[in-house]
Amino acid sequence: MLLEEKNVIVTGGASGIGLASVKRCLEEGASVVIADIEDSDGAAHAQKLDNQYSGRCLFKVCDVTNTAQVDKLFDDTVAELSSVDAVFNNAGIGGLCPSDDVSDDEYLRIIDINLNGVFRVARAALRVMYRQGSGSIVNCASILGVFGQSQTAAYTAAKGGVVNMTRTLGIEAAPKGVRVNAIGPGYIDTPLLEALDDDMLQGLIQLHPIGRLGRPEEIANAFLFLASDEASFVTGAHLLVDGGFTAGK
Ligand code: NDP
Repeated sequence: MLLEEKNVIVTGGASGIGLASVKRCLEEGASVVIADIEDSDGAAHAQKLDNQYSGRCLFKVCDVTNTAQVDKLFDDTVAELSSVDAVFNNAGIGGLCPSDDVSDDEYLRIIDINLNGVFRVARAALRVMYRQGSGSIVNCASILGVFGQSQTAAYTAAKGGVVNMTRTLGIEAAPKGVRVNAIGPGYIDTPLLEALDDDMLQGLIQLHPIGRLGRPEEIANAFLFLASDEASFVTGAHLLVDGGFTAGK
């Protein structure tokens, strides 16, 4: 059991990669908080999973654009579970829009969730983990943190920011016993891809030498590694889990 007796928070934990990660952590003996926006399926998932595993599974409302909700998520988790050992900073949205036609609101919303949200959650996690003298933060970046793609200016800016912010946080937190890493998924079969039409999806699949989309569980396994003591000498890294996408074709 890689996470026996550990307490984990997963933002965006009600769907896709987040939900798969919640389940893997529970399988590995952790108690897990699903943190997601109010109208997500988080409460229903938590209720079901809490009955299925020996660890606790709780749902807490947390919109990562709201600093007060993020800070409360950590305060409440510490009050209830007594520690936060690992965090998957995973909440995010997609966003396809021509750069000459994107509104301020749309651009800023993608940045606020995918970049500023990651910082808000990391900051709250660092405060708790510094007090504990231990912990692991894993930020969800993307292959689009290192590659460009047409019509994703805000998304790629945010994910590139997450990759480099992770390096800085990794350096800053290391002397306090806290590791900070990022995962860079290739295209993964989750509701996030529903905005893409079939032709676009087929074209993207061709860019993965493994020849298919990734499964959410394959990212969850990478999270599990980085969250656990198996990754005790890994910090400031961006672990690409992308079916060979960034290796080239
Ligand atoms: P999903 O849409 O399945 O899951 C994202 C979750 O985040 C949803 O539950 C969503 O809620 C929630 N969420 C959205 N906005 C907020 C917010 N403001 N505060 C808290 N939670 C929020 O997508 P994925 O599982 O695919 O994405 C997870 C992460 O993986 C994202 O950071 C994404 O950028 C990244 N990623 C995904 C890839 C892919 O191909 N799927 C590739 C590379 C990176 P709701 O559904 O109610 O909006």
